[in-house]
Amino acid sequence: RPRVLSGIQPTADSFHLGNYLGALRSWVDMQDTHDAYYCVVDLHAITISHEPKVLRRRSRVAAAQLLALGLDPQRCTLFVQSQVPEHPMLSWILECHTGFGEAGRMTQFKDKSSKNERVTVGLFTYPVLQAADILLYRADAVPVGEDQRQHLELVRDLAQRFNTTYGKMFVVPEAHIVKETGTIQDLAEPSRKMSKSASGPAGIIDLLEEPNRIRKKIKSAVTDTGREITYDPENKPGISNLLTIYSTLAKVSIADLERDYDGKGYGDLKKDLAEVVADFCAPIAERTRSYLDDVAELDKILLAGAEKAQAVAGATLARVYDKIGFRTPV
Ligand code: ATP
Ligand code: MG
Repeated sequence: RPRVLSGIQPTADSFHLGNYLGALRSWVDMQDTHDAYYCVVDLHAITISHEPKVLRRRSRVAAAQLLALGLDPQRCTLFVQSQVPEHPMLSWILECHTGFGEAGRMTQFKDKSSKNERVTVGLFTYPVLQAADILLYRADAVPVGEDQRQHLELVRDLAQRFNTTYGKMFVVPEAHIVKETGTIQDLAEPSRKMSKSASGPAGIIDLLEEPNRIRKKIKSAVTDTGREITYDPENKPGISNLLTIYSTLAKVSIADLERDYDGKGYGDLKKDLAEVVADFCAPIAERTRSYLDDVAELDKILLAGAEKAQAVAGATLARVYDKIGFRTPV
């Protein structure tokens, strides 16, 4: 079986619809086709300012949501990144093989650093830590949203560079990006992506949100001038985004939706979509709460996951140490 690895940041109290449609949906599917490793990347979460208590809570809530979405510890390895110390160890080695200019070209860094008043070296080197996350597990595929494409290119470059310099070591991974849902847009500003850290409350649908708030947000989503319900992301980003969400959650093709809503208005579409999204999120929130009711059991699952992950990561790192000329870690 090919191997898959992906991670998600515990930077909010809930994941959002973009996370699910762009990435987490594939995580669940790939459990059956791949040897799957998934992690809550709390090391990445401190690249922007954070509160220790909040981070600890969010890591648990993140793991509980992943289980609620259908990750099954019998079929995948689910762990929290900070419990496997090999990640920052490999990251350092890779940093020493990354050009400063190369890292400086990452558009997500430019984006995030322009919005934060406190810009750290960690935010700058974050894509290299991401490379370590992936390469440690010798992953073949990495299911992510479109915004991660550039980072995945860097990971591939670093893997190839290392292999050329020291002899075959890393698997060069492929990004697994689902074209149709690779970018879910912000509901209030459909020209940019829905984001945990950048979207305002009106622009983001959290999976754990109250059904009534979800309905309200869908109904007040910014749509485009005109009244035709047609899929045209260039000229009608708002309505096209709603069609993408509708089509994926309700498992109906966009062509069918266009036909069903022919002659109807934006309001009709929004009213129906509000129910579809509310019905999708409610059971996830319910299951998440039940996983959080038994924190001891949740922590046990995560510890077992970390042990399995560390067996793989430790073996890779030992080989890397050898290639680099380090002594064997004791
Ligand atoms: P942050 O704003 O803190 O970066 P985020 O919303 O971008 O949060 P991440 O934890 O960085 O979430 O990303 C988790 C996964 O979700 C990644 O694979 C990412 O590509 C994907 N993703 C994030 N936002 C979207 C979106 N709007 N549409 C599709 N996929 C997305
Ligand atoms: Mg992100």
